[in-house]
Amino acid sequence: MSEAYAAARVHVRAPGKLNVFFEVGDVQPDGYHDVASAYQAVSLYEDVWAEPSDDFTIAVSGSVDVSGVPADDRNLAVRAARLVAQRIGHTGGVHLDIVKHVPVAGGMGGGSADAAAALVACDALWGADLGSAELHRLAARLGADVPFALMGGTAIGVGRGDQLSPALAKGRVDWVLVPSGDGLSTPEVYAHLDRLRSSHDVPAGADAPEVDPRVLQALRGGDATALAEHIRNDLQAAALSLKPDLREALEVGEASGALAGIVSGSGPTLAFLAADAESALELQVTLSAAGYEALHVHGPVPGARVVG
Ligand code: ATP
Repeated sequence: MSEAYAAARVHVRAPGKLNVFFEVGDVQPDGYHDVASAYQAVSLYEDVWAEPSDDFTIAVSGSVDVSGVPADDRNLAVRAARLVAQRIGHTGGVHLDIVKHVPVAGGMGGGSADAAAALVACDALWGADLGSAELHRLAARLGADVPFALMGGTAIGVGRGDQLSPALAKGRVDWVLVPSGDGLSTPEVYAHLDRLRSSHDVPAGADAPEVDPRVLQALRGGDATALAEHIRNDLQAAALSLKPDLREALEVGEASGALAGIVSGSGPTLAFLAADAESALELQVTLSAAGYEALHVHGPVPGARVVG
């Protein structure tokens, strides 16, 4: 499509994610870890508006504390926009207006969602029509969680987490999220896990991590009780060790009707699995009364898509 027909302003919405299962292999010589992840996209979204500009600029606001988010070329969404421009030889720029609802550095892939949204928005704004395989390839260059934010739904990720295949999931899963004031740095959580493993405080990682088939079966059957039994996150021990007060919130949630509680990704957001929407509402009320910020969300929801 020629630029004459390109849209004047594009609005894209992209979801945050939870890791329903996250197994982390031992550290590799290059410092990375192989992982096996079961991702689920949940109804907590990032909104990104893109409009033509001579340069690449960004404004960041939202319902969460955005003070830690860079508003320049370090922002993953700006890097995504530049990547699309480079790929198609677009000579102009873009202004991105980002409204964040996913907690920053919260282990829910908010920055990755922004990047996926920017890819989709620039593709539409510039009439590039790159197609999902090419967008996926660009996403993988930006970060391990970006391809999943494009894809959404429920998926298995192996390798660095970016080799994705969709997973069957029946029905809806209700979650209550408890965000934390201060974020955790993902590299620091991995480094701490390595330390805990080398001092034998936690078991060593597997050579070839894989998603527990019982998790996939529970997702396929829409069985929240079975899912609760096999939910797992290898980064949890490291996140709890770095932020010990998370333990108390986990215990409160688990004692208040949650089927299970887990640290989301590298934390510190906590995710509580509820039996259904009604139980999730009750849990949200109980956690709020105990002084915790609590958000009721559900999954799976679609990945980054144009909404206007
Ligand atoms: P991960 O995807 O590693 O689990 P996370 O969800 O814990 O990450 P993010 O909110 O994605 O955390 O951001 C982690 C860091 O990335 C931030 O502290 C910030 O410095 C940087 N960053 C770059 N671009 C963005 C963005 N668009 N939104 C938020 N953070 C960004």
